[in-house]
Amino acid sequence: MHRSARASEFGINGNEVREEQEDEVMEILARVEHNLNDLAQGLSLLGLKRCSWCKRFLRSSDPGALFGGDGELVCFGCVPAWWPSRREQLSCEDRKKIEGNLVFWLRSFHNAHLVKDSRKTSENQPVKFELVASCLECRGTGTLMGDRRCRYCDGPGAVRVVVPERTR
Ligand SMILES: [Zn+2]
Ligand SMILES: [Zn+2]
Repeated sequence: MHRSARASEFGINGNEVREEQEDEVMEILARVEHNLNDLAQGLSLLGLKRCSWCKRFLRSSDPGALFGGDGELVCFGCVPAWWPSRREQLSCEDRKKIEGNLVFWLRSFHNAHLVKDSRKTSENQPVKFELVASCLECRGTGTLMGDRRCRYCDGPGAVRVVVPERTR
């Protein structure tokens, strides 16, 4: 009423065997991961860096290829999926800092422009994605120098950052 009964109960060759197999698999996985990390390190010496989201390697000499937010690198293609989930995990202060860097990066390398929140998109240009960021000029307060309404965001304290589809 021990080993054989347990084996039939679980429908496998006993728990110990299963655990051993799992250990072996974990060991192999750890080795593979180690090798991959070595490879990734080697590739980064060759000027290739890896997106932490999709795991693709991209040329780090292209400043628009990867965004370096908070120690992790994210490729341009992954930013629309990465940022909304990442920003949820950040403290208010970190979020503002990284958001500011992200907006700067999108404007510098991906022709992003700011749209006042109250205005509807009137352009015909196809949009790749857009995100809402707090206004850097009034730091999200909506006012400048006391009670003057911020003219950059038109008051709400937030702007839409629109990234156009690459037409080239
Ligand atoms: Zn990616
Ligand atoms: Zn503002």
